[in-house]
Amino acid sequence: MLAVTCDKCRRRFTPTDEELQGYLRQAEGKKYALVLCPHCGKGNKIALARLAQALSGVRRAPAPAEQAAAGEQAAPAEPTQTE
Ligand SMILES: [Zn+2]
Repeated sequence: MLAVTCDKCRRRFTPTDEELQGYLRQAEGKKYALVLCPHCGKGNKIALARLAQALSGVRRAPAPAEQAAAGEQAAPAEPTQTE
């Protein structure tokens, strides 16, 4: 999750994962994405690295204690490796 403080109205908001992915796609080839403030509509410049980090943080979040209670074991579908 990514908390953004609006440059104009100074209010905080948190875009959803879907919105973050959309911003990442729109800003392809640039360093910043314009994330629109839901309160005043101002576009705030957010570094793509921050957006990507927020998204990967959500995906990589561990689920503690959840597997212990599960009756069946789910094997990881595909191993992800960084090159
Ligand atoms: Zn605003």
